[in-house]
Amino acid sequence: MEYCNLIGGEWHETAQSVANVNPSDLSDVIGHAALGGADDIESAITAAHAAAPGWAASTPQQRFDVLDFIGSEIIARKEELGHLLSREEGKTLAEGIGEAARAGQIFKFFAGEALRQRGEHLASVRPGVEIDITRQPLGVVGLITPWNFPIAIPAWKTAPALAFGNAVVLKPAALVPASAHALAEIIARSGLPEGVFNLVFGPGRKIGAALVESPRVAAISFTGSVETGRGIAAECGRRLKKFQLEMGGKNPMVVLDDADLGIAVEASLNGAFFSTGQRCTASSRLIVTEGIHDRFVQALSERMAALRVGNALAPDTQMGPVVDERQMAQNESYLQIARDEGGAVRGGERLNRDTEGFYMAPALVTDTTNAMRINREEVFGPVASVIRVKDYDAALAVANDTDFGLSAGICTTSLKHASHFRANAQAGMVMVNLPTAGVDYHVPFGGTKGSSFGPREQGAYAAEFYTSVKTAYTQP
Ligand code: NAD
Repeated sequence: MEYCNLIGGEWHETAQSVANVNPSDLSDVIGHAALGGADDIESAITAAHAAAPGWAASTPQQRFDVLDFIGSEIIARKEELGHLLSREEGKTLAEGIGEAARAGQIFKFFAGEALRQRGEHLASVRPGVEIDITRQPLGVVGLITPWNFPIAIPAWKTAPALAFGNAVVLKPAALVPASAHALAEIIARSGLPEGVFNLVFGPGRKIGAALVESPRVAAISFTGSVETGRGIAAECGRRLKKFQLEMGGKNPMVVLDDADLGIAVEASLNGAFFSTGQRCTASSRLIVTEGIHDRFVQALSERMAALRVGNALAPDTQMGPVVDERQMAQNESYLQIARDEGGAVRGGERLNRDTEGFYMAPALVTDTTNAMRINREEVFGPVASVIRVKDYDAALAVANDTDFGLSAGICTTSLKHASHFRANAQAGMVMVNLPTAGVDYHVPFGGTKGSSFGPREQGAYAAEFYTSVKTAYTQP
């Protein structure tokens, strides 16, 4: 299968291509993705720029029809698309199918939002003058996405961009071209005018950077690492371009003495290791009070040892492989750093399975302090550490002592502590007796501090980024 660029409604091959390899079975080459260059991204921007005014003038019904078509088809094909996603990214089949369904639901939600575009009408302080406040499309938006949610993140950027009347150039992550291509193929048949949605594969430093630098791209929505986000922020700031960043996390899960041990262990297991820990909302710091610490570590270790790590496509697999060798090496390097700093590591070994892949046992690092690098930097793998604390106050202080602020969780049966944590955890999302990862699609998603910058994604709040507000004064 060749994954071509979609530019102005046409599929374009490139001279060179990149193999898409299954991380569960390195002998399985799923396809080859285009390797776009400067000409391709310029052509895509030109196509989007030409198509943008027409789409900005489209009716809510036209937008609804397109988004509803895309959402319906994704949901109808969720098993096939989920299988493809798990094959290229390595999350389990259940997670892959769940993510595909989620992408469809997101398009359905924004189909509804396209119908619900509202403004405000106010009386002026001046006699006889009327004021209307409306939302306008931005023009061309550049969407830059990471590899860990190969269809959901492109969906949660593309759907609101189109619902609010913008044209799109999507640059997906190089590791997961098949899901982006499948999404683009559906969009191309949705009735959306040619050029409104464009897809270009290629290296971020070239293709992504060209989107950021182009004066014809009005805004950039980026999800990825802090390092890349920082560079995009600097460039957009220099050009006074609107931008939105969703980046890393070092998400705390607080477990108090009064927690239901079963709930705390399951929430931590899910938050830390599902999707192989490759989630920006993963629970990577388990902050546990003294009275429950040993029982919690014991019970979690037993559950981790029983997790079935294997081929993402095997029905009984509970944790798939790490995405690639580079990420595997990063995980191992952080485990070594943790050992060197005095932490005790359980698990984390490379595992052999029937097929050659990047299999790794889930790892738990105990005897850590919040000052250690393992607790300050994002690993982005199946690695969690435990920090023992005296009481709730110490737990909250440690939870907030981080450069990040995406998601924060607490397991407790105390209403007082749950309420206090909800109010005082420095994070964009707070979870009580639930994993730090796993969110709804109709409400805002995003964080504080170094995790996010700019308006929230998803839900009705997505309008903040994908539109600009116009205030019109009329003397009839
Ligand atoms: P990454 O920053 O390496 O790449 C993200 C995207 O940016 C890719 O499409 C890449 O090609 C592109 N890119 C790279 N250099 C660029 C440049 N100079 N200019 C423009 N674009 C460029 O991140 P990744 O490794 O693909 O993803 C993992 C990271 O994503 C983790 O840090 C994770 O926490 C984060 N993430 C965050 C969220 C969230 O919503 N907060 C969600 C998922 C993943």
